[in-house]
Amino acid sequence: MTYETDFRPLQPSDTSPTDHLRRRTPAVFRGMAAHWPAVSAWTFPYLASLDPSLPVRLVRGNRENSPTAFTWSDLGTYLRHLSEPPRADGDLLYLKEFDLLRKFPALRDDLKDIPFLPLGTVTSNSVWIGPARARTGLHQDLLDNCAVQIAGTKRFLLARPGTVERAGALSAKYDAWARLSRVGIEELAAGRGAGTGDEDFYFVELEPGDVLYVPARWWHEVVNLDASILLSGFFGSRSHVARLWTQVRLRDTLHRSRLLKEGDCTCHPARR
Ligand SMILES: [Zn+2]
Repeated sequence: MTYETDFRPLQPSDTSPTDHLRRRTPAVFRGMAAHWPAVSAWTFPYLASLDPSLPVRLVRGNRENSPTAFTWSDLGTYLRHLSEPPRADGDLLYLKEFDLLRKFPALRDDLKDIPFLPLGTVTSNSVWIGPARARTGLHQDLLDNCAVQIAGTKRFLLARPGTVERAGALSAKYDAWARLSRVGIEELAAGRGAGTGDEDFYFVELEPGDVLYVPARWWHEVVNLDASILLSGFFGSRSHVARLWTQVRLRDTLHRSRLLKEGDCTCHPARR
């Protein structure tokens, strides 16, 4: 079983980005960000040089469907390891949801606008930096996402909203801004029954400069084909984000007060 037989390639979009936003269908825009200075400037050695001793928290393994575990390193050591050939037996350590632009505000000058984001949109940017084979397990985000591949190659496997739900595979594990699946997307695709459309599963490989629109609630699982940097921007209208934020904050307050899903979440280490 491979994704190539069960998944359709997500073709470069031939309609306008706003069509995709209106219809809430995923779309890839090849090379839309290729002219961004970040795509040429953000090498691992360059980013490491900004503050080599900066402590960074790394996710160990696939926390979406395995027990959550973290480890600490510093930016210089971590990025130096990424520049080296990958070790087959090594632990996969992943710098996720890293607020690079807040740590180094001058890097904002290396980004340009995404032309299709509607006016009045609120965005929250962070970067995912990790080695080949590092994976984010199957999940759906509560907000629309605009992902910009800065360096390396990443494969996204996507499934239509409802596919995990119909399979009864929703995970009970807590995540503030996402919902998780108990099974991987290839297992999900292989097990689809009659009546499930052929247009439920897609794959796309992002190269530097490519931009991917993932609508909220579309399921996706992501794997690095080599060491890579992705800039992710969650976005939504001011009123939508405000409404969602109120709900997320309420749940998250309960979670952090140990009243909801203690020890079974992506934000705290799993209990041993
Ligand atoms: Zn937690």
